[in-house]
Amino acid sequence: MVAWSEPASRKEPTMEYKTGDKPGEGAYRCKHCGYVVRLASDKEALPACPNCGHHEFEKVKGD
Ligand SMILES: [Zn+2]
Repeated sequence: MVAWSEPASRKEPTMEYKTGDKPGEGAYRCKHCGYVVRLASDKEALPACPNCGHHEFEKVKGD
């Protein structure tokens, strides 16, 4: 392993995805209405939100 220097802070970037992305297995929450879409594998692409048709999602953590 390469010994990368540790960043001073461990800020996690906001993980945002949109319709057509294939971010992998997990749950993704519509940023517009809060509807949660689940993907079963990294071969599935995010659909438009089934509830409101929006195209922006964020990863649901701790799932
Ligand atoms: Zn929505």
